[in-house]
Amino acid sequence: MAMHSHIDRILWTEDQISLRISQLAAQIVQDFPPAPSPPPVFVGVLTGAFIFIADLVRKINLPIDIHFLTSKSYGSGTLSNCAPTISHHFNVDVNGRHVILVEDIVDTGHTLHKLIAHLKSKGASSVSVCTLLDKPARRKVDVQLVGEGKFYRGFECPDSFVVGYGMDFDELYRNLPYIGVLKPEHYS
Ligand code: 5GP
Ligand code: MG
Ligand code: MG
Repeated sequence: MAMHSHIDRILWTEDQISLRISQLAAQIVQDFPPAPSPPPVFVGVLTGAFIFIADLVRKINLPIDIHFLTSKSYGSGTLSNCAPTISHHFNVDVNGRHVILVEDIVDTGHTLHKLIAHLKSKGASSVSVCTLLDKPARRKVDVQLVGEGKFYRGFECPDSFVVGYGMDFDELYRNLPYIGVLKPEHYS
């Protein structure tokens, strides 16, 4: 696909993302062997992770459950809110289950902090995180996994606001197949 005219530069191409997701999937399959343990529960954090989780789970040849919840921490800006709101539609019984939270990007860490605490309180036996991007430069809250939970990340992201492959600015650009940075005049 030709580069969108609003994009200043591409950080990861479609092929680079796909290759990295195959590696993440292989790692998860190794870490979560099938029976006797109950299948892991994959929980996608909407909206940004919708493409990532779709590509990831199709590379995981295990019996798994897939669910979603919605988290919102931005208005239309590029600064994340330290009090993300999490939808309460999530009523899957995670008691005694291994949960893998699937995120597009970990930025301040507030969203994961809140989600992990919630899953822990519901009795998850472990909570892992699989995030496509990790932006450690902006971390405010440590990501504390539960039990034997693991942290999987696709790429370390520089301290810029990125779009594409599920991630938006003001709800646009989610459909770009690559991840990039907008030209400055389009961040407004
Ligand atoms: P947190 O700051 O709570 O770790 O991140 C909250 C959410 O903000 C992330 O899950 C992601 O959806 C969104 N976010 C953080 N950084 C970026 C970014 O660079 N681009 C986009 N589009 N969303 C981001
Ligand atoms: Mg997200
Ligand atoms: Mg967003």
